[in-house]
Amino acid sequence: MNVNVVIVGHIDHGKSTLIGRLLYDSGTLSNEKLAEIQKLLEEYKRRFEFAAFLDSFEEELREERTIDTTRVLFKGREHYYTIVDVPGHKEFIKNMLTGACHAQTAVLVVSASDGVQEQTGRHAFLVHMLGIKNLLVAVNKMDLVDYNESSFKEIKNETNRLLSSLGYSEVKFIPISAMQGDNVYSPSEMMTWYSGTTLIQALDATKPEQENQRPLRFAVQDTYTIDSDNIIVGRVESSTLIQHKEIIFQPSGVKGKVEKIKVFPSEVHEAKVGDSIGLVIGNKVERGNVGGYLDFPPVPAVGFLGEFVLLNGVLREGDELWLKCGTGKTRCRVKEIKERISSDTGKAIEGNMMEIRENEAAVASFDIEPLVVEKFSDIPEMGRFILTKEEENVGAGVILQIEKSSSF
Ligand code: GDP
Repeated sequence: MNVNVVIVGHIDHGKSTLIGRLLYDSGTLSNEKLAEIQKLLEEYKRRFEFAAFLDSFEEELREERTIDTTRVLFKGREHYYTIVDVPGHKEFIKNMLTGACHAQTAVLVVSASDGVQEQTGRHAFLVHMLGIKNLLVAVNKMDLVDYNESSFKEIKNETNRLLSSLGYSEVKFIPISAMQGDNVYSPSEMMTWYSGTTLIQALDATKPEQENQRPLRFAVQDTYTIDSDNIIVGRVESSTLIQHKEIIFQPSGVKGKVEKIKVFPSEVHEAKVGDSIGLVIGNKVERGNVGGYLDFPPVPAVGFLGEFVLLNGVLREGDELWLKCGTGKTRCRVKEIKERISSDTGKAIEGNMMEIRENEAAVASFDIEPLVVEKFSDIPEMGRFILTKEEENVGAGVILQIEKSSSF
């Protein structure tokens, strides 16, 4: 199984170094790269700056154009991992909502010598906002505090206070040194007082998300006509798409039987959640439509209640913007601001509800032109949204409640 992991934390707490360490210890690197590391190891007298190395690795990836520059892949003992590096919180949200929007797990890196800092709180809040339930804390740079148990406990208590205010309980804390390699892949000999798992064991314990009885949702990206077939290209966001079943798209209302499911270059009888496919039902369907079976059809919404972070500017009741959700885009209007939340602490801000300011989070209701969206708690893939103004992303969040259109 592939697990998307986002690594977050305050600047300089060791995120890049940790990614370098994971790549190095997993043996993902080519022989030449290993030889290069070997040489560097000598140069640094066995102290190697993984962070500098990662930069050169990313350079290589960029040239090959195989993987997005912010994503690196490696294999653990159980799963394949896609790691998303986070240069800053705006980039983080952008990454989360584009490439890495299905991150199952977050690793919060906190430096043992620095403790909780501004971005520690902000990133933890964003991870919570974007609905990542599986959170691990890596207390890094344990080598700088002599691998001391009481330093670890102090950071653990401090971080736990922050996380419990966001609703995280029973979070696993792992004392590591990304630079020296303690407790990342190999158990540390320097911290015999620690009896928990290594970071990779904790990651490998990730269970596949339960694909229970969720309704089918197929998000349309585009339709192409090839050899007189109208091929609807898109992604299965929930459940399984099965050949010969009847399917309806909203808000267009186009219906048809699933004639073919194409996974280039062949054809299959069914497509599972996460699969990007070409679908033939005989009709064309425009981008932004969402398909589902007739028993639990997608229903366009005309309004919703959302929790989100404002990335840019100020937002007031009555403001008009664009909403993006899945592949859909529609006009929206801020109806009522119900709550303002500090994105540093996750706590409500008292007083003026007339406007939301930059970097604040909020709960607000919106009116929208009909578009299929889902509650984040029902179908997370269809429950995240972005607010845009003049082509710029100004906010991002999750959908809490939906007001469905009565005319569908
Ligand atoms: P990022 O900004 O969170 O990606 O942090 P970096 O990975 O760039 O690391 C910042 C600095 O901390 C670099 O100089 C690293 O070499 C150093 N560093 C990272 N991890 C460790 C560690 O486990 N021990 C020590 N002593 N230094 C570390």
